[in-house]
Amino acid sequence: MDQPVFDHRQLTLDDVFEFACYPGISCYNLCCYDVNLVLSPYDFLRLRRALKLSSEEFISRFAELHLGDVTQLPVVAVKMNPHDFSCPFLRTEGCAVYPDRPSSCRTYPLARFTGRDEEGKPFEIYRIIRETHCKGHFEKRPISVRDWIKEQGLEPYYQFNDLFGEIVFARQHMDRPLSADELDLIYLACYGLESFRKRLEEGGLPLDIFSEEEIQKALADDFELLKFGLRYLKETIFKEFLPK
Ligand code: SF4
Ligand code: SF4
Repeated sequence: MDQPVFDHRQLTLDDVFEFACYPGISCYNLCCYDVNLVLSPYDFLRLRRALKLSSEEFISRFAELHLGDVTQLPVVAVKMNPHDFSCPFLRTEGCAVYPDRPSSCRTYPLARFTGRDEEGKPFEIYRIIRETHCKGHFEKRPISVRDWIKEQGLEPYYQFNDLFGEIVFARQHMDRPLSADELDLIYLACYGLESFRKRLEEGGLPLDIFSEEEIQKALADDFELLKFGLRYLKETIFKEFLPK
């Protein structure tokens, strides 16, 4: 696969770029080989629910798990097929998980960068990824970044990814290693919701910061549970390291 090259421009939501991707384009599916497909907790939940798999089953069949070199946070990435490096969800007719495809697949050919500037204000910029195999760049279809996000159904992905991003940010500003118990809890809240739910139900988490209504709402729905889990991590392990 070509090495991706980023366009020099930094795009904001109202900037316009030209791109189109559709079945029948000469490069159809070429972008689904040899991909470093890291799954955010929301990506992971969408995919495993679409495939009706438990967290454990999904990881053993489709993913690789390791701890980030710098952050020590769990990183879950889709394992490419060893014989041809194709994504395991790729079929002749296209992506088998298209309605639940991960955020990076939806965002492509853009890449999204978020963070805080020197004054602590959140920023969000986009850059265009150019790979020679991708012919979508030659299609004369102008579209703003904002409309691309809408068209690709990215809003809920970015909402959850931003919550997770705050945890990553806090972790980068933490001046001590994570304990084994903290790591375990982070993993469960992000990628092991069945066990996180069990702990919540059995009263195994200190919960004085949440109302009974918030807890019941989380227990009633997986996506609410993920949101709750990410908030829980923010309010406990990472509280003192969050941006003010
Ligand atoms: S999840 Fe779908 S769109 Fe993304 S790389 Fe795999 S096959 Fe391609
Ligand atoms: S246009 Fe780009 S994104 Fe679309 S199928 Fe071709 S390589 Fe993939």
